[in-house]
Amino acid sequence: MKDENCIFCKIAAGEVSSATLFEDEDFRVILDLNPASKGHALILPKEHYRNLYDLDEALAAKAMVLAKRMVCKLKDALGCDGYNIVQNNEEVAGQSVFHFHVHMIPRYKDDKVGLGWHMGTLTEEDKEELLNKIK
Ligand code: 5GP
Ligand code: ZN
Repeated sequence: MKDENCIFCKIAAGEVSSATLFEDEDFRVILDLNPASKGHALILPKEHYRNLYDLDEALAAKAMVLAKRMVCKLKDALGCDGYNIVQNNEEVAGQSVFHFHVHMIPRYKDDKVGLGWHMGTLTEEDKEELLNKIK
């Protein structure tokens, strides 16, 4: 399914131009317009899914295989020192375009890419509560 108001549907379909690194029947891989670092790219499925919650499971598996293949190729082309694979779900988690996508962010020694979090401590209470809920 497509969403006629969705920019990533239009880009994935080729209706809006993009710097395309790869394309197959399921996905288009493009350069991000506002890259966190040189070579920041996005994997877009051609069908519209709001985010990971809705994504078809078979496509989810294919997306990870594609991410693996792309970063293996791109790391040599870019000469980067590492990679972050990032996937945001909902606004509070940083999602701004509500069409599932995977960020592939090359990392370079001493770059200023701001990914990260303050590390907390797992409490017994939190651990027991979640383990009991999820069983
Ligand atoms: P999110 O915040 O939803 O995880 O990521 C959305 C990403 O899409 C951002 O990194 C943003 O720079 C990128 N982006 C938004 N609109 C466009 C566009 O029209 N073309 C391209 N190539 N990237 C876009
Ligand atoms: Zn879409």
